[in-house]
Amino acid sequence: MDEAMPLFQCSGSSTFTKEIPQDNDEEPPSNLVSLQNVVQKPQTIFTRYHQPGIILPFPGKRTPRTSIKTKSFRRRFFPLVADKQWNDWHWQINNRIRNLSQLERLVVLSDEERTAMDTLTVKLPVGITPYYLSLISPDDPSSPLRRTVIPTIHELFRAPEEADDPLGEEHQSPVPGLVHRYPDRVLLLALDFCSTYCRYCTRSRVVGHGALYPTRSRLEKAFEYIESNPQIRDVLISGGDPLTLSDDRLGWILAGLRRIPHVEIIRIGTKIPAVLPQRVTPQLVKMLRKYHPLWMSLHFTHPEECTPESYKACSMLADAGIPLGSQTVLLSGINDRLETMSELVHHLLMMRVRPYYLYQCDPISGSSHFRTSVDKGLEIIRGLRGFTSGYAIPTYVIDAPGGGGKIPVMPNYITGRDGEDWTLQNYEGNEFHYPSPSHHGLPSFGPDPVIFADA
Ligand code: SF4
Repeated sequence: MDEAMPLFQCSGSSTFTKEIPQDNDEEPPSNLVSLQNVVQKPQTIFTRYHQPGIILPFPGKRTPRTSIKTKSFRRRFFPLVADKQWNDWHWQINNRIRNLSQLERLVVLSDEERTAMDTLTVKLPVGITPYYLSLISPDDPSSPLRRTVIPTIHELFRAPEEADDPLGEEHQSPVPGLVHRYPDRVLLLALDFCSTYCRYCTRSRVVGHGALYPTRSRLEKAFEYIESNPQIRDVLISGGDPLTLSDDRLGWILAGLRRIPHVEIIRIGTKIPAVLPQRVTPQLVKMLRKYHPLWMSLHFTHPEECTPESYKACSMLADAGIPLGSQTVLLSGINDRLETMSELVHHLLMMRVRPYYLYQCDPISGSSHFRTSVDKGLEIIRGLRGFTSGYAIPTYVIDAPGGGGKIPVMPNYITGRDGEDWTLQNYEGNEFHYPSPSHHGLPSFGPDPVIFADA
């Protein structure tokens, strides 16, 4: 592959071929042409946005292609943008909302948001696809999806227990962009670009900074490291978001890893099906299916992300034989209610996505307003277990600060122990006794075996 292979293969004739963008150019430039027709201040019609916009694609019923929210948003702010453009992922990336003047045309900002957008010197840039912005409430700063992508001044406060790299990834990085924490698997950071930046991102010290590029030279060093460590059988490609790479570049990375004989499985970590489902194209899935066994960890946060577009994207990936799991970060005031989490995990199962991990929010700098108590996470898991399908229940984990890895935390269902026997509590709070197998050895049956009386 040539070093100048495009990062983003754009529609039309232009192609981004720069390998190392210059300062302030870490991402494709926003194109404001389509914003010229927007009305300056959102008006009261936004009451419509508070109605649930999610329509489930139940079998046998006609599946809508989009939600009411997205339709209304497009009609109001992008009336001249044709379906073909709106559904083109390059258009979505090129028209991301990245600064105060763009955002205030589309959303009524609170003082806390405006100040943050105006003066913020936080590490993480702002970037929101028009599609994802169509899902947020334009006039309620406390609404869940809005809080995940629009910064507030709370990001400026750093609590004593917080750190830029709480998981100690920098100390476990043998070559740039590769984290080797567990013996048999590595994390390969392909790039630092995301189509939409989550304000609670664990890697906010890296993503969006324009310092980590998917260059041939850097990635080949990572391949060499993996090749020289035969115990590595599992590679997770993350970032940034690997699905923002062009098909060619991502295919080149996958092919490079597949050439290493001891790499058994490859995983891709991505939020694309939630923030830019238009990226999941027939061409992409055709390319991906060449590199099985390939798994994907998707990042869903809230049921409002489970739109017809997301359903379609997940279906295409699942139809390509890619097992899908979701990693969800537990976030205060966003998804820390049992009802919200139940709704999310049920949507995920319908989308053929297995809820995989529920993460306790890492103590990254400026994350106090997102973090919940561990008790809250335990309460949610207890509220799910037994009350819904086992497949719907993620493993609740705390990624140990300092680099200790993921530690599962579970509500305690063991209420007593008598020798080898156990007393357990079920989901309804009732106690049961479990007798362990006898340790006196198997009885000798002789020529006539004992038959149980009721056999
Ligand atoms: S998509 Fe992932 S890497 Fe990108 S900002 Fe969100 S959490 Fe961070």
